[in-house]
Amino acid sequence: MKLDDLKKNAKEDINKATLIKELESVRIKYLGRKGSLTNILHSIGDFPKEDRPLIGQTANKLKREITNLLEEKKKYLEESRALEWEDLSLPGRKTSKGSLHPLTILSQEIIDIFMSMGFSVVRGPEIETEYYNFNALNTPEDHPARDLHDTFYLKDGRLLRTHTSPVQIRTLEKHSPPLRIISPGRCYRVDTFDPTHSPTFVQIEGLWVDYDVSMSDLFGTLELFTKKIFGEGIRTEFLPGYFPFTEPSAEVWIQCPFCDGKGCSVCHSGLIEILGAGMVHPNILKNLGYSEFTGFAFGLGVDRIAMIKYNINDIRLFYQNDIQFLNQFNEIKL
Ligand SMILES: [Zn+2]
Repeated sequence: MKLDDLKKNAKEDINKATLIKELESVRIKYLGRKGSLTNILHSIGDFPKEDRPLIGQTANKLKREITNLLEEKKKYLEESRALEWEDLSLPGRKTSKGSLHPLTILSQEIIDIFMSMGFSVVRGPEIETEYYNFNALNTPEDHPARDLHDTFYLKDGRLLRTHTSPVQIRTLEKHSPPLRIISPGRCYRVDTFDPTHSPTFVQIEGLWVDYDVSMSDLFGTLELFTKKIFGEGIRTEFLPGYFPFTEPSAEVWIQCPFCDGKGCSVCHSGLIEILGAGMVHPNILKNLGYSEFTGFAFGLGVDRIAMIKYNINDIRLFYQNDIQFLNQFNEIKL
């Protein structure tokens, strides 16, 4: 009988189909608008009246059967195609591990050193008032030192802090000495980017105020610091310096680690300046009502120390987000 042949052929065609679009051709061939089974269903009226019910039932049953077979095969093909895409034998994709920024790593190392000497960490705002950034630090409006600190001003007269020293004043206003604090954070100055200048940098300042703090406490503290950062054998020298908020002031220099103090293109003299320090200016303590105390303060640029410690010759590398550069610090553990 014709329907039996049709059933057999349709099953064969469905079995042979290996692609979904081939399966669609099979569907059209039998069940499409002009498909062979559709034609039979449409021509039932041509058969003798008594045969029509049986032919109709059989053809409809066959239609359901072919539809089911097509659906099953389609599902099978879709699943096997998904498996092709998902090659389970491939090794998993590695997600790359990030690392801390070198300035963060070094800041934390420096903070740890001072915390081990009894300093606590205090942070303050990056947007400051002129009072905290300059006036309270013995730098009135007409003071020449303000030129060194030319900074970014906001419309309302506030400014981006040029050092973390305002934190010292804010702390001294709230807490009376004795105290020992360090204040790490980002600072700003009007500088154009070049290998040794950056309009933003990370500073860590320290302040120790107590009844009998002397210059020798300052020397001892900072010498211990340089040894911990650059190694036991490093030679530290203190040279006279000038800062408006300290008196007397000192520059701290270390033996150049690139040439071991022999003199090279980086240091010229065998020594490299790493930070500024001094005894807190008596005017500052007097203004705050702490005349009976003495203290010392220091400030260091984390960028500068990082350049010397990690032998980096361009400060811009810290701010360019170059993955190759940053990846080198992956292995440094805190
Ligand atoms: Zn040198």
